[in-house]
Amino acid sequence: MPAESACLSCAQDTQDPTRHPENWIASDKHWRISHAVGAAVAGWLVLVPRRHVVTIADLTDEEAAALGTWQVRLSRALHAVTGCAKTYVVQFAERPGFAHVHFHIVPRADGLPEQFQGPRVFALLGKPDQPAIASAEVTRVSAALHAHLQSPPVPATS
Ligand SMILES: [Zn+2]
Repeated sequence: MPAESACLSCAQDTQDPTRHPENWIASDKHWRISHAVGAAVAGWLVLVPRRHVVTIADLTDEEAAALGTWQVRLSRALHAVTGCAKTYVVQFAERPGFAHVHFHIVPRADGLPEQFQGPRVFALLGKPDQPAIASAEVTRVSAALHAHLQSPPVPATS
């Protein structure tokens, strides 16, 4: 396991949400959620364990329970805020410096061109030919998601 001190995800973590106000969305004692940097998609989120973990198998049961809840809560918030048709949930953690477990929660718009569907959606993250959304848009959608997550949950109807 790479040393925590060499981990860029650990370096970015902070108990102080005001440190990254432009893309901070939520956090609890196990997980933090922020808007991805360099995404061409508004609402592309990254869900990261607060603890240095490089494989999902090393998450505690408590972290795992919170993970499931966050994945669904964030997906619901993305539906409400972005109007997406569904969300993608992806975890690889292969890029150098980012071995720390992180889940991409990506709003998949109705009408997303087929060339960007499924794993090809990563052509919309950090690629020069697909410019990132403006920082003002990151701030706007992050604030809207944060506000949505603060509102009381509406029970699902079945
Ligand atoms: Zn780490």
